[in-house]
Parts: sequence; C-alpha cells; structure tokens
Amino acid sequence: MHIVFASANKNKIQEISALIPSTYKLVSLEDIGITEDIPETGLTIKDNSEIKARYVAEVLIKKKLPWAVIADDSGLEVEALNGEPGVYSARYAGMQKNDTANNKKLLDELAKFTNRKAIFVTTITLILNNQIFFFNGEINGTIALEPKGIKGFGYDPLFIPQGYQSTFAELEKDVKNKISHRAIALKKVIQYLNNI
Ligand code: IMP
Repeated sequence: MHIVFASANKNKIQEISALIPSTYKLVSLEDIGITEDIPETGLTIKDNSEIKARYVAEVLIKKKLPWAVIADDSGLEVEALNGEPGVYSARYAGMQKNDTANNKKLLDELAKFTNRKAIFVTTITLILNNQIFFFNGEINGTIALEPKGIKGFGYDPLFIPQGYQSTFAELEKDVKNKISHRAIALKKVIQYLNNI
C-alpha cells in the first residue's frame, strides 16, 4: 500500500519513516507534486491535521491515485500557560516559525512559574478509501530550565519526558521514536492498517 505523508518537515518525515514497516511505501508531498505550504487555518491540532490530510486526498483524487494519506499535527501544551503554545506551537514567537525563538519565548513565559509540566500531543489523520480516521498520541514531561541537546527539532531541547533525566534533543533518536507522541499515534495507525 502507498501512503502519502502530508508533511514537508524533514524531522517528522525521518521519524515516521523509521516506524513505518517496509510493507508500506511511504510517498512524500514532493513525489506527488505538492511543493506549496498547506495552510494550517484550524483552531485545534485535530482540525489542522484533518485540513492537511484532506488537502492531499483531493490532489490524489485529481491524479486518480488510490493511495492512503496520513497527516500529523502536533503541539506542546504547557500546564502553567493554560495549554499554550498548543496549536500555535510552530508560530509561538512569530510567523517565521523559528525554533530558537520559540524556545526562548517559552522559557521567558515560564520564568515566573514553578510548575513546568507539559504534554506533547499529536493527532494523525488517516484518509483511506474516502474514509477518515483520527489517532492521538500524548507524552507527559517537564520543561527544562535551559535548552539542552542538539538532536531533533522544535521544542526537543526543552522537553524532558516523564521518567527520563534528559531532553528529547539529548536522547538518541530511536529512544525518542519509541516513546514520543508521534510514535504513539503512528503505532495506532499501523495497528489499524495491519488489521484491515
Ligand atoms: P506542526 O505539527 O507541523 O504544525 O508543528 C507544530 C510545532 O510543534 C513544530 O514546529 C514544533 O515546534 C513543535 N513540535 C511538534 N512535534 C514536535 C516534536 O516531536 N519535537 C519538538 N517539537 C515538536
């Protein structure tokens, strides 16, 4: 089965590719001629995940390609900040979507709080045979006092998963990819696909 992954984010592509069994053929947006940014105009992570999946599904219909689509939308919800940055995680410090600026803003906003609990959440939308399905993944953790580590992307240098002493950016990629919000949601997708 061909599965188009509706993301141009190289880090996400790498994480998803490492988890998809070789019986599925992962297809990129570029492979089907989508080079533009897919607008993320939803008010929730689930909305944006659905928007991205539907956008790609329409292109596949036009191209008469009967392939499945998966789309991932994710965000970091920080308890003391009432769930922010949440759906605005990528654009927290501005439309330029800069990871360093986002991390700095998060540390600045959290400076006056002792509660540093956070959750990474993701919704993966699957569109298959004109049907739509949603799979969620979450991981609890805390926000470090300063960025640590160089692996990964986004808020990885600040996120310490529960039960660990290191940030996602310090952990080996395969460790993050066993426990992350994205891995949890994707495992559900694979389990679903393997059972149909
Ligand atoms: P989107 O899902 O592409 O809209 O991305 C949301 C933003 O959340 C990204 O730009 C990252 O800043 C952040 N994010 C999502 N997943 C992760 C992750 O696994 N690690 C670190 N940051 C993430």
